Amino acid sequence: MALIQCTECRKEISQKAYVCPHCGFVARQSFFTLMLILLLSTMFFVVLDKVIDVYLAITKHFL
Ligand SMILES: [Zn+2]
Repeated sequence: MALIQCTECRKEISQKAYVCPHCGFVARQSFFTLMLILLLSTMFFVVLDKVIDVYLAITKHFL
């Protein structure tokens, strides 16, 4: 398991750690991962909304 240096307290923390166990600082790399997950989930719901719209349009067309 790779270790990275905390940008706040300079202590070594796990690369997979979301928050530094020493000072509680949110690791930058993990912060971007969180933002990416947030962005992807937002995109997922936007796409899901469009899929539901298309599904309803098709259902109305055939009924
Ligand atoms: Zn720290």
